[in-house]
Amino acid sequence: MGVNMNSNLGGDGFLTTTINKVAKWGRKNSLWPMPFGTACCAIEMMGTFASRYDISRFGAEAVRFSPRQADLMIVSGTITYKLASVCRRIYDQMPNPKWVIAMGSCTCGGGPFDSYAVVQGIDEFLPVDVYVGGCPPRPEALIDAVIKIQKKIEIEGAPIV
Ligand code: SF4
Repeated sequence: MGVNMNSNLGGDGFLTTTINKVAKWGRKNSLWPMPFGTACCAIEMMGTFASRYDISRFGAEAVRFSPRQADLMIVSGTITYKLASVCRRIYDQMPNPKWVIAMGSCTCGGGPFDSYAVVQGIDEFLPVDVYVGGCPPRPEALIDAVIKIQKKIEIEGAPIV
């Protein structure tokens, strides 16, 4: 695909690329997060979306509470077995391609709650792309996870659906 960038150059100013590269560029710079916050880590997630950390610098500020409009699920907080099926159903309702960040020790591995009621890591029922450790992780760590998702999209890409 070729795009004429500058008609004043008399046809010399061409940028060439592929549809796949343009799609990946668009996807990585316009992630629409679906927040799934259940406990204290969710407070740090909210802080990440607020003005001090300003996640819109990375094109991921369009938080959606409808899974059908989101492509990045951020799970933050303690997940009980009762909640796991709800979390999975919301993930299933998100259109492809989609990605998942597990934020915080509870989400990644149960955290301090080694209990019959708490899921010992959401990867028991969800495909996790990036794990963010910490109790709770700081907003910078979540931003770092978003950047890792962007790199993943750039390197691996996703099929054009
Ligand atoms: S990892 Fe720590 S801060 Fe996060 S939900 Fe669990 S107990 Fe709360």
